[in-house]
Amino acid sequence: MVDVTLEQAVDLLLQKTEETSQTEELPLLAAVGRVCAEDIAAPMDNPPFARSPLDGYALQASCTRGAGERNPAVFKIIGEVCAGDFFAGKAAAGEAVRIMTGAPIPAGCDCVVRQESVSLDTAGRLCVPCELRVHEAYCFKGEDIACGEKILYKNEILHAVQLGVLASMGFKQVKVWRQPRVAICSTGDELVLPGAQLAPGKIYNSNLYTLAGRFRELGCPAPMVGMLPDDAALMMKNIRKIYNEVDLLITTGGVSVGKKDIMHPVVKGLLAQRLFWRVKMKPGAPAMAYTCGKMLGIALSGNPFASLTTFELLVRPVLARMSHHPQLACTRGRAVLVDDFLKESRSRRFVRAVHEDGKIYLPGRNASGMLLSAAGCNALIDIPAGTQALHSGDVVEVVYL
Ligand code: AMP
Ligand code: MG
Repeated sequence: MVDVTLEQAVDLLLQKTEETSQTEELPLLAAVGRVCAEDIAAPMDNPPFARSPLDGYALQASCTRGAGERNPAVFKIIGEVCAGDFFAGKAAAGEAVRIMTGAPIPAGCDCVVRQESVSLDTAGRLCVPCELRVHEAYCFKGEDIACGEKILYKNEILHAVQLGVLASMGFKQVKVWRQPRVAICSTGDELVLPGAQLAPGKIYNSNLYTLAGRFRELGCPAPMVGMLPDDAALMMKNIRKIYNEVDLLITTGGVSVGKKDIMHPVVKGLLAQRLFWRVKMKPGAPAMAYTCGKMLGIALSGNPFASLTTFELLVRPVLARMSHHPQLACTRGRAVLVDDFLKESRSRRFVRAVHEDGKIYLPGRNASGMLLSAAGCNALIDIPAGTQALHSGDVVEVVYL
């Protein structure tokens, strides 16, 4: 298909995108940001025993009935228990155990009185000047997590709290979905890697860094990264080498209609199935997608802002599907434009912007070959085809990045 809408392009991509069925077990800290691949039930109670939430004395509440400032209830202190210890005995009526925060409540006790509320008499006995209720200052066994309760759901993102919950249950590993295996390759005879000398006519390769950085930011680190000249045969050779080991290949450059736009002969030469070429949008219109075996290829325009925009709009939905992680796709909303955008948009246009508190700001310079003004932008304005101009105060459609 040629000249598809963005929505058609995403549909065509998703038709060829499979959620991974492969999992891996990771140590907890290696799993932060990953997607849990199974439902998990609590194998135990937490806390595993009833415990004291404060420093004080554990005793039987019924022994404080009628107690007051003038006639405190008096207890014999029979021992002491700290967090990490266990009081082996049992308190009878009229007996109390000194207890620290986090220590197990001794047998025979059903409440705790805080240390600041009591005093000791000259005989060293505990004086409690008030009535206590059963289970006052008392943390129940399993009050955080009850044994058997669902603690984690399949496809839940493992944030810090989820890792803490798993740790509190004694798990040191967790099963997560395997991440997509991604390769990025930029093409262009003009490209030079940073660090090398620039000969006349050459430019430094920025796309590789922007896109590989974006993958990392989205939690899909260390994709295979390469750079090739405008040489179709070489590109085919490289794709043949990797297509069995890679789920997704992102290339930049070489998809337009110029003499050196090699991705067309590459797709033909590989006998790959082209899904679409050209998306009705600006920037990034020449984007193309194809499948080569099980590998999905997305060929993006080489212009730095075009490749970034199409990464957000075309690649992220694919990543989200592959990794069972819907939040990896961009969300949309509406916001009030603060600045004017006076350029006419004959085709649908995406403009870099800063979104804050429902307002949307334009950074000024805005062309597909310009990258710097995209720094700090966190949104794209989605301007429909045929829009004359946008003015301050207009409500616009926004893609949040
Ligand atoms: P292309 O899509 O190959 O026609 O390239 C479009 C424009 O983007 C040209 O000006 C290229 O020099 C530039 N360009 C292509 N690839 C890169 C890259 N990796 N980094 C920076 N600029 C690039
Ligand atoms: Mg090129």
